[in-house]
Amino acid sequence: MRNQNSNGYAKVRECIIDCLPKEAEVTRVEFEGSKLAVYVKNAAMLLEQNYIISDIVARLHKRVVIRSDPSIRVPKEQAEKIIENLVPKEAEVTSIVFDSNLGEVIIEAKKPGLVIGKEGSVLQEIIRNTAWRPKVIRAPLLHSKIIASTRHILYSESEERVRILRNVGERIFRPTLTKQGSVRITFLGGFKEVGRSAILVETEESCILLDCGIKPSDQDSMPYPRFDVEQFNLERLDAVVITHAHVDHCAMVPFLFKYDYDGPVYCSEPTASLMPLLQLDYLDVASKEGSYAPYDQKDVREEVLHIIPLKYGVVNDVAPGVKLTLYDAGHILGSSIVHLHIGEGFHNIVYTGDFKFGKTTLLEPATSSFPRVETLIIESTYGAPEDVMPERSVVEANLIETLNEVLKNGGKALIPVPAVGRAQEIMIVLDNYMKNKKLIEAPIYIEGMISEATAIHTVYPEYLAHSIRDQILHKNINPFQSEYFTIVNHPSEREEIIKGGPSIIMATSGMLEGGPAIEYFKHLAPEEKNAIIFVSYQIEGTLGNKIKNGLKEVSLIGAGGKMELVKVKARVEFIEGFSGHSDRNQLLNFLSKIKPKPTKIIVGHGERKKCESLVAAINKKLGKAIAPEVLETIRLR
Ligand code: ZN
Repeated sequence: MRNQNSNGYAKVRECIIDCLPKEAEVTRVEFEGSKLAVYVKNAAMLLEQNYIISDIVARLHKRVVIRSDPSIRVPKEQAEKIIENLVPKEAEVTSIVFDSNLGEVIIEAKKPGLVIGKEGSVLQEIIRNTAWRPKVIRAPLLHSKIIASTRHILYSESEERVRILRNVGERIFRPTLTKQGSVRITFLGGFKEVGRSAILVETEESCILLDCGIKPSDQDSMPYPRFDVEQFNLERLDAVVITHAHVDHCAMVPFLFKYDYDGPVYCSEPTASLMPLLQLDYLDVASKEGSYAPYDQKDVREEVLHIIPLKYGVVNDVAPGVKLTLYDAGHILGSSIVHLHIGEGFHNIVYTGDFKFGKTTLLEPATSSFPRVETLIIESTYGAPEDVMPERSVVEANLIETLNEVLKNGGKALIPVPAVGRAQEIMIVLDNYMKNKKLIEAPIYIEGMISEATAIHTVYPEYLAHSIRDQILHKNINPFQSEYFTIVNHPSEREEIIKGGPSIIMATSGMLEGGPAIEYFKHLAPEEKNAIIFVSYQIEGTLGNKIKNGLKEVSLIGAGGKMELVKVKARVEFIEGFSGHSDRNQLLNFLSKIKPKPTKIIVGHGERKKCESLVAAINKKLGKAIAPEVLETIRLR
């Protein structure tokens, strides 16, 4: 905003001073990401924001937040006492943290609604009496280390955070040389394959990366996106947008920070919490297995400082001439469909990421209506004609029947699950059936990041299916808690579980690529009475995929680092239909329902055959679909 932007900045400042009444006493105007922060000496301005702000927004086309000048803020200790007195005890405040750089007080409570008060009455009192701007956040219903530590990173490095946000804003609103003249996209990974999703979107003035994943599989293929292409240049990169917190979509983000990327990472609020959790788990598994990881923990920390969480449906400037909006994708908590609006109506891209066009226990279905769409980039994990999933009731009956047979025979059932998504879905299903006596009562052990991910679900009830959301918000019920669940906190507890009676074990990773699931697998696989039950997609090349396809002997690294041969005698089941992906019918249904109709459809995120098969089906009915290869570049306009 200073140097080359100074002209634009002067104009912005002039307009703001013009809009605000004199008694506001503006001391500073600064970019804060895509928002403008206006610091004032009159705390009343923080209260009467609405009409003044809408006036500024209408004139500048920028979002605005009014903040108090440091000189008028009540000292922290005193402010904390005032807040404690104003907020009713029943709100169960768990922490009060002050961010002096932004003049914000972050109040974490079990019942945030009570901190806000009727029509925001309590918040207004806090502003009036302290001149700090309150920000209320929900405390997790279950303890979450990652929520606590990411919140700690953000508060303790608030000055750095302010610097980052200012840079981001200056970059977004930098003066541009040309009008939008072209849009091209390059596929860096995740096309005609599943894994390492990454798409580069370029206009003449800006450059955005959509997703940045790693392909989990054995060594026969390149696991990282093709950052070696000439179009990819970290210095030119304006923004990274992440659709959701699965390894194949986000695990490579910290790598960008290792090479000094200093720009923003946009994602939904839950993804902002889940993504670092997944990356730290990825590093943990790599270090335990002695395998190579392309970055380390400090790069994850750097990433946390650069994440800008967004709510669904809110339009955000992310680069010169580019606006981003996230929509619900229905795949996992916080999963998003990305909408990019380029130029003033010049071109619109919708990228589905992974999406489910159907309701699940946990989530509402994906959005299918957008303001404008010319190019649609769609996944095709289940894109082949045979990929039609049975009815949900049949799927559940299948799982319950299998489990009952195993438990009755005195066996144990291992369900490998990714920490986020299927784990929570299956937890709710198992608990329901056991409570209703349709599933034989047995302990359900849960290990490996699942409990952390579950805790994060309780922080964002508004992102869950309405019925689950209402249980948390209005009935004070934690749907993820059950008398049947036992959280396994330490590997030493495994021996007892393995030696013990019939049980159900849910453990990560979902594709048997490391994690505690593999430890249980070693012990359970050789016995016929046990079962390995897969409930999520198994990427080609992963151990899970090989076992699913009938592999009977596996060499694994055992105790002491020696290779050990594991015979698979246990029953192996693949129960389809719990997937968070759209099946073939749902994909076609989405394509016929999407509003408005795209003029170009690009198919990715599917094994080669699935991509090609979906393209053929679309071209027969709707026309204009292609399935590009990784490294291809396409000009959209
Ligand atoms: Zn996914």
